[in-house]
Amino acid sequence: MNRASSLAAAFLGLILSSDFGHAQSSKPGVEKLYILNCGEGVAGDISRWSPGVNEGKSMDFVDNCYLIKHAQGWLLWDTGIPDAVAAMPNGLAPADPKAVYWRRPKTLAAQLDQLGVKPSDIKVIAVSHTHPDHVGNVEVFPAAMLYVQKAEYDWPGANNAPRFKPEHPVTKLEGDRDVFGDGSVTILSTPGHTPGHQSLLVKLPRTGAVLLSGDAVHFKSNWDNRSVPSINFNKDQTLASMQKISETLTKEKAQLWINHDKVQRDGLKMSPEFYD
Ligand SMILES: [Zn+2]
Repeated sequence: MNRASSLAAAFLGLILSSDFGHAQSSKPGVEKLYILNCGEGVAGDISRWSPGVNEGKSMDFVDNCYLIKHAQGWLLWDTGIPDAVAAMPNGLAPADPKAVYWRRPKTLAAQLDQLGVKPSDIKVIAVSHTHPDHVGNVEVFPAAMLYVQKAEYDWPGANNAPRFKPEHPVTKLEGDRDVFGDGSVTILSTPGHTPGHQSLLVKLPRTGAVLLSGDAVHFKSNWDNRSVPSINFNKDQTLASMQKISETLTKEKAQLWINHDKVQRDGLKMSPEFYD
């Protein structure tokens, strides 16, 4: 080996042992996160979510789905208002006029298509809980493994109806779950809004950690004041889950992205833009 090539070999060895090796070991599991528009609506009376405050006042709501590209595959967090609502000229009126009147400006399917992602490409879905604005399109992904808390899955629906089709592949969780085994995407058990509500902690390579609330909190003032909606399943559990989220935000230096908060979403990049 001449001097130049031995120097080159030494240099290559240095790269392999330091920079390159480091890049390998710190290679992010999560590559990208897209925020998808999964609904827009108007709440008739926001005191429904903050008892005694803002009675009779209406407010705009949004509803998000989050598509995550991990080295092991795609994960969809929440599925939003049913795509069928996009074809309803007047949207979906709630049974309770204080609740949210939902519209679907874009379907979930169209937004996936825009990214070149087929529903069958998505092998893993997880839902924060089983209210209709979060599970509206679960059956667009009939073969995807569904991650849901057992307490939510087993919670009887109206007239004892099951929450999901019994034939849908499911992993029933009892607590937190590191989805890909590398700490990059973690489901956090945050009961209270419903019996088996869950939130999602995502660690992005450049953006850092982001905690997706689900409906553990509905909008920022409720978070700041620790308000518990009157419709929640369990008040004490809700407050304990808010505390758990608060501690996780501190520990992970994470941002809290509140699913239904329109003011916050207006400041975030929507698909096809993404966070990495
Ligand atoms: Zn909701």
